[in-house]
Amino acid sequence: MSGPAPSPRSADPSAGRLSVVGLGPGGRQWRTPEVSAVLAAATDLVGYETYLAMVDERPAGQLRHPSDNREEGARAAGALDLAAAGHEVAMISSGDPGVFAMASAVMEQLDRPDRPASWDGVEVVVCPGITAAQAAAARVGAPLGHDYATISLSDNLKPWSVIEARLDAAAGADFVLALYNPASRRRPRQLGWALEIIGRHRAASTPVVVARDVGRPAEAIGIVTLATVDLEQVDMRTVLIVGSSTTSLVASTGGRPQVYTPRRYPAVVTG
Ligand code: SAH
Repeated sequence: MSGPAPSPRSADPSAGRLSVVGLGPGGRQWRTPEVSAVLAAATDLVGYETYLAMVDERPAGQLRHPSDNREEGARAAGALDLAAAGHEVAMISSGDPGVFAMASAVMEQLDRPDRPASWDGVEVVVCPGITAAQAAAARVGAPLGHDYATISLSDNLKPWSVIEARLDAAAGADFVLALYNPASRRRPRQLGWALEIIGRHRAASTPVVVARDVGRPAEAIGIVTLATVDLEQVDMRTVLIVGSSTTSLVASTGGRPQVYTPRRYPAVVTG
């Protein structure tokens, strides 16, 4: 296999394209050239206003359609309508658009039994980005060097009982855990509950990376332990990486503390 997948032009030549793009965590240095090219060529940018504000290019004539963070379905449908009308639409997510972001919301609209026929000709493209956990991991070494699970602590779209069950299973299976949407003003207590569940399976000394605003000017990264996570320091702009039983600290080089998870895993002795 070589090269990108062919992109067949849509059946309706008057229909446009919807590109669902990931900006990466923040700064331009972590944005792919593909995404920059799509942003430059788009006639319309659609997205949550905070993410739109992260796009500093403003080509002449390009329109912006900011929306509230909580109306994903309507935003995706509106973007598809614009593309069906012949526009080159870029829908913006932070990080990767497939990780707790807009790519699924667009697919969900396309999967609607009552979807408008006008969408049939729209070409939908997903352009990947660096997700928050990868960016945070890169800052501190290699905590995601072995198997890991990505879990959102937000119970806006899934029940807390499901989150609890997944945390318990993933921690029990000794995955490193990347925790997204860890806390917000509306949900201040979930992270404490989550760490309590994880603590049933992990030592209090397990390394935890607390990474806020990674790749942005206000970046702040700490390496603490499961017992010393300061819940007050964690908000919606923070991602946490909780180590597995094999994650360990490395003596710092160049003044930077480092943490890694080895690729080798000890054999489980049974019987
Ligand atoms: N699509 C995004 C995730 C969206 S969910 C991605 O792939 O990164 C939003 C959550 O992502 C936030 O609550 C936070 O946990 C995490 N996040 C996104 N950008 C971040 C950044 N620059 N620094 C730290 N965490 C970030």
